Amino acid sequence: MIRELTSQDYIALEDKYGAHNYHPLPVVLSKGEGVYLWDVEGKRYYDFLSAYSAVNQGHCHPRIISAMTEQAKRLTLTSRAFYNDMLGIYEKYITNYFGYDKVLPINTGVEAVETALKLARKWAYLVKKVPRDKAKIIFASGNFHGRTLGVISASVDPDARNDYGPYLPGIEIIPYNDLHALEAALQDPHVAAFVVEPIQGEAGVVVPDDDYLPGAYRLCKNHNALFVADEVQTGIARTGKMLACDYYDIKPDILILGKALSGGAMPVSAVLADDEVMLTIKPGEHGSTFGGNPLACAVAIEALEVVKDENLADNAMRLGNIFRDEMNKLVAKSSLVRLVRGKGLLNAIVINDKEDSPTAWNICLKLRDNGLLAKPTHGNIIRFAPPLVMTEAQLRECIQIISDTILDYEKQA
Ligand SMILES: *Cc1c(COP(=O)(O)O)cnc(C)c1O
Repeated sequence: MIRELTSQDYIALEDKYGAHNYHPLPVVLSKGEGVYLWDVEGKRYYDFLSAYSAVNQGHCHPRIISAMTEQAKRLTLTSRAFYNDMLGIYEKYITNYFGYDKVLPINTGVEAVETALKLARKWAYLVKKVPRDKAKIIFASGNFHGRTLGVISASVDPDARNDYGPYLPGIEIIPYNDLHALEAALQDPHVAAFVVEPIQGEAGVVVPDDDYLPGAYRLCKNHNALFVADEVQTGIARTGKMLACDYYDIKPDILILGKALSGGAMPVSAVLADDEVMLTIKPGEHGSTFGGNPLACAVAIEALEVVKDENLADNAMRLGNIFRDEMNKLVAKSSLVRLVRGKGLLNAIVINDKEDSPTAWNICLKLRDNGLLAKPTHGNIIRFAPPLVMTEAQLRECIQIISDTILDYEKQA
């Protein structure tokens, strides 16, 4: 007979049999619905991480799950050795949705970033006529673009980099939110692209100055370099617009999407670009067995439909304004919270303590006890990013939990 396992048992299993490449908050989840998660003991939580913004549409959205199960019963994978009856439909749908000539469908966020880097290099050699093997790609310090060797070569985070060398050449890292540094870097005629997150999510929801992204876009245009936006976390309504770039009316030369593209149902990512860039990759020059599989296509179409039908961008914008207003009241009352920042429902509070102190972690443990799940990002920063299907009443209840928890913590410290 199988005995019921407790949270402690599941944690012990992961610890014993799984690689130790994560440090999860101690809570074991077994069910999700909308803005809620339940642990194995049946306790309910508000989810304020949303799987790093992969579940913008809420957990197990009935329309997405239904599209998924219907398609799963019919056809899941053909590989790209043959055509299938979902891929073209999806490609037409998503390119219309975001206004690009073409899409390259792939699976995880980091694969989409790798795809964008390969496209940028191909474009540099075939269109810009950079001499072979001289192409350079510029990144912003503090970035997070995923975990492959190529992508961590552009990271400055020692945890992401250390003991993984040698690194990919052809990379220059400049400070984020610094147009002078970008202008200087773009003087090199071999630059293929500048890759940037419109808001640096993993770095702690770092929002650049209002003139940064349009300025960076213009500099790239002036120097014949591609402007590549990694909207894996900021895209798909998270920041209050469909794309964070929509705040500035700029259309990236290459747009990278992932995470909420499937509403969290499965890994689905995409790279969008116009023909001049996309057609530089020819048959056999890039791909993935699962990329563009019919199951992913069905799921992604429904996930994007839900975002539009439920006005999730507008909801994120409205609730985000309420959230930051209320958190600013907390900042005024509390000596523990230094500031709140973000756009839409991608926000973070900065804790008034040393970077390496465990305060943010300890507050997250208390939040968990009080029924709300969040996780510290780099340093002493707590990100708050609930599913975008949240109601105002739910948000206000959560603001109460966060405020009470922090004021309580402060009293006891
Ligand atoms: C999460 C993330 C990625 C990587 O996505 P994975 O699916 O984990 O590979 C890339 N870029 C940004 C901005 C992200 O937030």
